[in-house]
Amino acid sequence: MPSTRSEKSCYFCKVVNGEADPFIFENRSFISIFDTNPVNPGHALVIPKRHVASIFDLNQLEHDDYFDAIYGVKQVVDTTDMKSLYEGMLQRDDLKGRPTDHIEAVLALPFLGDLPNAYTIGNNDGREAGRSIDHLHVIILPRYKGDVENPSGGIRNVIPARAQYQRR
Ligand SMILES: [Zn+2]
Repeated sequence: MPSTRSEKSCYFCKVVNGEADPFIFENRSFISIFDTNPVNPGHALVIPKRHVASIFDLNQLEHDDYFDAIYGVKQVVDTTDMKSLYEGMLQRDDLKGRPTDHIEAVLALPFLGDLPNAYTIGNNDGREAGRSIDHLHVIILPRYKGDVENPSGGIRNVIPARAQYQRR
């Protein structure tokens, strides 16, 4: 079977085994971490403990635990002091020598201390959809007023040429 509980070369299996980023949430089937290349303050990943590539590979138990993880991580995000989080991330020994530009960029954002105004929640389910590590990781991306000039269409913007449409 190609899909075992832990794959040696898989970064997210390392995370799940507690060998990388600290957990911010854990339930029976999932763990969560803050992304160390954050797109926005509070950018988190929800990762199944089992090595599965796709959301369509989740079993019934994982289905049952999925929304518990989504809700739980939102609560953590909404109650985390983002300034302390990212200042602490810059001090992490395991991240020394890695680029820190994303961490520094979010620390400089004017809405760093605000509660999220909205969320983008999603998953790049396959290489053609932009996935770079073949172990499912659902992205919880807090959104803030003004984080992009025009948020209209949201996730439709993964294909910019056809993101916008006329409502009638
Ligand atoms: Zn894995």
